[in-house]
Amino acid sequence: MPERRNIYFYHKPDSEMIEKVEPLYDIANRYNFKIVKDFREANIIVSIGGDGTFLQAVRKTGYREDCLYGGISTTGSLSLYCDFHLTDTSKMIEAITNTEIEVRRYPILDVTIDDETAFSCLNEFSIRSSIIKTFVMDVFIDELHFETFRGDGMVVATPTGSTAYNKSLNGSIVDPLLPCLQVSELASVNNNRYRTLGSSFILSKERTLTLKVVQDGNDYPTMGLDNEALSIQHVEKIDIKLSDKRIKTVKLKDNSFWEKVKRTFL
Ligand code: NAP
Ligand code: MN
Repeated sequence: MPERRNIYFYHKPDSEMIEKVEPLYDIANRYNFKIVKDFREANIIVSIGGDGTFLQAVRKTGYREDCLYGGISTTGSLSLYCDFHLTDTSKMIEAITNTEIEVRRYPILDVTIDDETAFSCLNEFSIRSSIIKTFVMDVFIDELHFETFRGDGMVVATPTGSTAYNKSLNGSIVDPLLPCLQVSELASVNNNRYRTLGSSFILSKERTLTLKVVQDGNDYPTMGLDNEALSIQHVEKIDIKLSDKRIKTVKLKDNSFWEKVKRTFL
C-alpha cells in the first residue's frame, strides 16, 4: 500500500476501548500511516470489535468502493468479517507491509423503498410483522408474480450475509464469488388456502426481487438493514437487487471464505 495511507479507525468511543486500541494507533504511526478523524479522508477503514461492529463501520462510512475495509476482533476469536485479533499485531504488520496485497470483493444489496429511498446492506435486508398477526406480501421476481407470502416476514441475504440470519433460517451458505441474493422465509403459513415455496431460493444479480406489502392494516412492518432498523414505518413496495458496488477487504493468505466459514462454525 504505497500511496493511499490515510487510515480511519472505527470503534466504540469509551475509555476502555480507547485504551485497548492504543497499540494500533502506535503501529499505524510507526509505519507512516496517517490517522484521520474524518472517514471521508480515509483510504483504509478499520473496525475494531466484532462482525456487528464491522457492519456498522461499513454503514456509517457509506459503503465506500474506493476504500479498503478491515476487521479487527476484540472478542477472542476471529469471525466472518474480522481477520485479525486485536492482540496479534505481528499479523497486522505483515499485512500492512506487504506491497502486493490481494483484495477480495463482497457483493452488497441495493434496497429501494417505495421508489424513493435507497439503502445498502452487507449482510441482509429483513422485513417482519411488527404485530401479532400474519403479514402479507406479494413476491415478484422481475415482473413475474411468484407467490403471495403470509407469515412473519422474509430475509434477503448477500453471500457473506448467508452465514448470519439466513443461516438460522436454514438457508444455504453461499460463496461470495457468486454474486447473488438469497431469499428465506420467516414462518410462512402453508395450508389449503395459502401457499409459498417453503424453501430458500437464490437469485442471480440480473434479477430484481420486489415485495409488495398488502395494504390490509398490517402494513407497518419492522425493516432491518444489517443490524440497523429502518426508521421508515409505512411501506408499500420494496425493490431489492444486487448493487454494482462491492466492498473491498484485504485477502490474507490461508484465508479463503470457506476457511472463514470453517473457523466460525466448525
Ligand atoms: P447481534 O444480535 O449482536 O449478533 C448476531 C450474531 O451474528 C453475532 O454473533 C455476530 O457476530 C454474528 N454475525 C454478524 N454478521 C455475521 C455474518 N455475516 N456471518 C456470521 N455471523 C455474523 O447483532 P450484530 O452483531 O449487530 O449483527 C447483526 C446481524 O445479526 C444481522 O445482520 C443478522 O444477520 C444477525 N441476526 C441474526 C438473527 C438470527 O440468527 N436469528 C436475528 C437477528 C439478527 P459478532 O458477535 O462478531 O458481532
Ligand atoms: Mn455483535
